[in-house]
Amino acid sequence: MSSGSGPKPPRHPPATDVMTCRACGRDERASEGYPCTRCGTFICVICNFRGIVLCKKCQTETGAPPTGL
Ligand SMILES: [Zn+2]
Ligand SMILES: [Zn+2]
Repeated sequence: MSSGSGPKPPRHPPATDVMTCRACGRDERASEGYPCTRCGTFICVICNFRGIVLCKKCQTETGAPPTGL
């Protein structure tokens, strides 16, 4: 049996661009995220959309209210 090259997935994001969001903990694309306004760590675009501009650590340290869903 000869195994040829299987079908490639249409779009697969490169793993080199992935960073862990420090607000929600998800792995998201770094190029689409934003830095924490306090410490500059990575916050994903999804959190930013929800109005989160601080990482978990900074939210705790600044006493910011928990974000409602
Ligand atoms: Zn996030
Ligand atoms: Zn921070």
